[in-house]
Amino acid sequence: MSEATTNAAKSMDEIMALCKRRGFIFQASEIYGGVNGFWDYGPLGAQLKKNLKDAWWQDTVLTPPDGPDGKPVSIVGLDSCIIQNPKVWEASGHVGGFNDPMVDDKETKQRFRADHLWGFFLHAAPDGSADEFRMIFERAGSDPNFIPLFCCVASASGEAREFVVQNSKKLFKQFKLTVTADPADSDEFAAMTLEQNGQRFIGALAPVTGEALAQSFASIPSPFTHKAGSLTPPRAFNLMFRTYLGATATEDDIAYLRPETAQGIFINYKNVLDTTRVKMPFGIAQMGKAFRNEVTPRNFTFRSREFEQMEIEFFCHPDTTREWYTFWRDTRMAWWRSLGLTGDNLLLREHDTDELAHYAKTGAGTSDIEYRFPFTAPGFGELEGVADRSNFDLTQHAEHARAKLEYFDQERNERYLPHVIEPSAGADRGVLALLCEAFTPDPERASKVYMKFHPRIAPIKAAVFPLVNKDGMPEVGEKLHKELRSRFGMVDFDPKQSIGKRYARMDEAGCPYCFTIDSDTLTDQTVTVRHRDTLEQDRIALDKVGDWLGEKLKA
Ligand code: ATP
Repeated sequence: MSEATTNAAKSMDEIMALCKRRGFIFQASEIYGGVNGFWDYGPLGAQLKKNLKDAWWQDTVLTPPDGPDGKPVSIVGLDSCIIQNPKVWEASGHVGGFNDPMVDDKETKQRFRADHLWGFFLHAAPDGSADEFRMIFERAGSDPNFIPLFCCVASASGEAREFVVQNSKKLFKQFKLTVTADPADSDEFAAMTLEQNGQRFIGALAPVTGEALAQSFASIPSPFTHKAGSLTPPRAFNLMFRTYLGATATEDDIAYLRPETAQGIFINYKNVLDTTRVKMPFGIAQMGKAFRNEVTPRNFTFRSREFEQMEIEFFCHPDTTREWYTFWRDTRMAWWRSLGLTGDNLLLREHDTDELAHYAKTGAGTSDIEYRFPFTAPGFGELEGVADRSNFDLTQHAEHARAKLEYFDQERNERYLPHVIEPSAGADRGVLALLCEAFTPDPERASKVYMKFHPRIAPIKAAVFPLVNKDGMPEVGEKLHKELRSRFGMVDFDPKQSIGKRYARMDEAGCPYCFTIDSDTLTDQTVTVRHRDTLEQDRIALDKVGDWLGEKLKA
């Protein structure tokens, strides 16, 4: 089975059920019916997320690989406030421009992001060449004259495609269309042909651009009712959460919860320069909560309203942006791979120039590190963005705060505003990718599924099980448990239930090694070690368990 098939075949419902059952992730405020777009991490999830963040801090802040110049990379940490002076967000462009286009269905009262709208377009099939076909497909979605037959809402291309494939029979029947090529048979879904009253059409699934939507929203069919006329025009909706400082709560007291951790770094850039001995090039790293009032939170934790980011702003001389951009893009990609996101499920996607953000138009590049989540498969969803932000943010803050942010480079004898390369990752999307990657159905096991976490990020590193809760076995187990816990962190100790049930619970928790103490242990001082992935069992000396585990967890 290819990687693609594997992840596409994984059921998000089953992954979410396991997350709840084993205490990885709970719906926030669940006992009050939940609150849309917010998630709490349970005991295993909190540890998993901490392991991910610790690995990031260790590998990118404390021990990054040598830079493109072969020298050690200099990075320092920061922990800035969630609420800052509101002028920060005016300078950064978030007050004026951090908007998503929102559309409402007047009939069903459902709301969605206009840029998530995909349409299924019909066009009379040309008799002619492949080029003619291609031209029609390319125009679908961006040309207001191409009114789609029906629409669907998706945050990723794979999901829209999946919707059409799943519902095609029903939808085509509704629109009296006969499929002459089976969409499910073809990877090039757009290449399908259809027939209506003897006439041939081609069908194209494509995103409906904002411009086309703004011009033709009255005739665009609703994704929910498939009828035209019930959509509102797209309206800009600012994603920042507002709050008030102090007791009076007037317009003058408005403040914002930060929508990204990055700006806290830019406004402290001068403080860091003045108080440490960092020299250009150098980075400032920060992880912490960010808040976005997403129009349509969805796909479990993938699009939440409260989430955590792990960001680096790397400052460098403008002439060196290309090499630092390439360095960070490749370093970050290699890092996700090192945590077990392997094979085809991880993708590096360079942006086309027309997708670049306002600050990156002329820069060295922007790329997304994307993961094939089960809900995006066969498509991908963004895990981390690596962008050349040029000197956009520092210029803005220099102007708005009337601050001198230029750097005097003694080596070059030159004064300049540094350019910035930003690798910006989501901790929650990272955890979600690790959960999806680890989820491994196995009908042969009692648990029917196990979580194949990389040992470095597995929340429970090992378990100690006395085979029976008597005959001195629990005492030996407790001693071993204490030793392992002090060396490796979360280690389970469980003297009750059948050993099969205990193993099954550890398989679902993704614990890589279980040590069992039995009657032989009492005589020959050895224990059984059970390997999660292979189910092999070996015996090793009781007094060697700690060192043995230390080696395994390093690998
Ligand atoms: P998207 O296009 O999916 O909304 P974005 O491009 O706006 O994401 P960035 O502003 O580049 O995201 O944020 C950097 C990282 O923060 C993303 O790669 C993602 O991992 C994480 N992130 C952004 N928005 C959310 C969210 N609503 N929920 C969870 N993580 C998020």
